Amino acid sequence: MSDDAPTVATNFIRNIVIADLESGKHASIVTRFPPEPNGHLHIGHAKSICLNFGLAKEFGGKTNLRFDDTNPLKESEDHVQAIMEDVRWLGFEWDELCNASDYFDSLYEWALYLVEQGKAYVDSQDADTIRRQRGTLTEAGVESPYRERSIEENRDLFVRMKNGEFEDGAHVLRARIDMASPNMNMRDPVMYRILNVPHHRTGDRWHIYPMYDWAHGQSDAIEGITHSLCTLEFEDHRPLYNWFVENIPAPCRPRQIEFARGNLDYTVMSKRRLLQLVEEGHVSGWDDPRMPTISGIRRRGYTPEAVRAFWTEMGISKQESIIEMGVLENAVRNDLNERAPRTMAVIDPVKVVLLNFPEGETEWLEAPVHPQKPEMGQRKVALTREVWIERADFMEEPPRKFFRMRPGGEVRLRNAFIVRCVEVVKDEAGEVLELHCEFDPDSRSGMPGANRKVKGTIHWVSAEHGVPAEVRLYDRLFSVPNPLAEKERDFLEFLNPESLSIVEHAFVEPAVAQGGAGDFYQFERLGYFSHDPEDSAPGRPVLNRTVTLRDSWRKK
Ligand code: ATP
Ligand code: MG
Repeated sequence: MSDDAPTVATNFIRNIVIADLESGKHASIVTRFPPEPNGHLHIGHAKSICLNFGLAKEFGGKTNLRFDDTNPLKESEDHVQAIMEDVRWLGFEWDELCNASDYFDSLYEWALYLVEQGKAYVDSQDADTIRRQRGTLTEAGVESPYRERSIEENRDLFVRMKNGEFEDGAHVLRARIDMASPNMNMRDPVMYRILNVPHHRTGDRWHIYPMYDWAHGQSDAIEGITHSLCTLEFEDHRPLYNWFVENIPAPCRPRQIEFARGNLDYTVMSKRRLLQLVEEGHVSGWDDPRMPTISGIRRRGYTPEAVRAFWTEMGISKQESIIEMGVLENAVRNDLNERAPRTMAVIDPVKVVLLNFPEGETEWLEAPVHPQKPEMGQRKVALTREVWIERADFMEEPPRKFFRMRPGGEVRLRNAFIVRCVEVVKDEAGEVLELHCEFDPDSRSGMPGANRKVKGTIHWVSAEHGVPAEVRLYDRLFSVPNPLAEKERDFLEFLNPESLSIVEHAFVEPAVAQGGAGDFYQFERLGYFSHDPEDSAPGRPVLNRTVTLRDSWRKK
């Protein structure tokens, strides 16, 4: 995918935008991506990022990155930094960096305005009582005994709430709407709660913090957001979103539009659960390559191009669905197949000695960097008398249709020549130590027998030039498609015990050992690999398997 390929395919939101631009309702659009900095972003967030930034990019509009930082109990500056890095990695740059906390003064002023209008009141009941009085979907709520407080008393109490005169939970400010509304969100929702805790940006200036519903639409209005795109769970909040904007002197009226969340199988995508995995040490951190976080998939070697192409292909709709992990992996595979240089690595090595190859010599063979892309050039591959091959590529007593190395049989060493195994050297326990082979000089490239066909081709690495490497193989983090499906069981019970296996003694070509963070490869016949950006060091490579060559999970 090229850099200027569209990041959004057409969808109902895009059509609304086109209609609004054509009708002149908006001269240009402004969108926003509004994460709460209470964790790292995950692949689901990338859907929203691609949508918001993609639309603005396509139509020459703007996108703000806004931290929805209204709950100081859960938020931190670390998450803020991680989120910015993740958005940039995905290939997007925001027009303005905003914070809901930048608007605390305006929100407070508007709340006072609603108090003055008799549209907000201070409730002095505890949270449990308020919750009980909300009623149910079939039963109206109960009005608070404080609902008829005078405007003066409400103003006085609210100012004192703000000044920090009360304990947490002593009072809340509520919108005065309709306790009998069929929409539960309209039953006098809480706008402010008292929290005597410092905030990572505003310090100890505030003792009251706005609730999501009170902060969100107002922040959109302040920033002049034209299309406020959010996930379906906010559909029922839209009447409240509109009520707030309509009842204050807001500078504009943004339109909220909902779309379906992106979900994947064999993982979890709520920050709360991901936080639990991190805090309880089930993974090595937010950026563990098995995590569905942006930092995790980045570390694993997924590319931003692949993630963008994936969400473009999946589209935007109001239909909830769970996407198979294999579909995402395929997007990664497709991107890497185009771009990854080919190289050979052996992850479970056994030694082959080429008896008729001169001792102490190195022959430098030429091989294509990418067999389908001659423009990527050639690479040098060192051939020596001793080479490593994959233990699984030899069988002493193979079944039929085993086309790799066997005693007496011929096989091609990829990019080199045909060899025949003439002797198997074993230890006392019967474990294969070395395979002695003879090569056919006539079968090397440029010779008459170069194209002679043998059934199998295997990969190898020179024992003299190959560099030892650690290789980390990843599998699904969970062993069931939906770890949250069973309400009686904890999702942690479904963690896949085989999600990580570490191979400490693999061998890679020297060029791979010199690579570093950001470099990716196809290890021929094995899969796509990339340097672990944290642990790989020059001369001491650590490689993550990004994705296998084929979807092997489906078969299981
Ligand atoms: P989580 O439940 O994982 O914590 P959240 O919705 O609470 O997610 P926010 O930080 O509030 O996370 O989300 C920022 C934006 O990303 C919101 O507009 C939200 O709708 C959107 N978003 C979150 N998860 C997804 C998802 N799985 N697919 C698409 N958009 C998402
Ligand atoms: Mg949230």
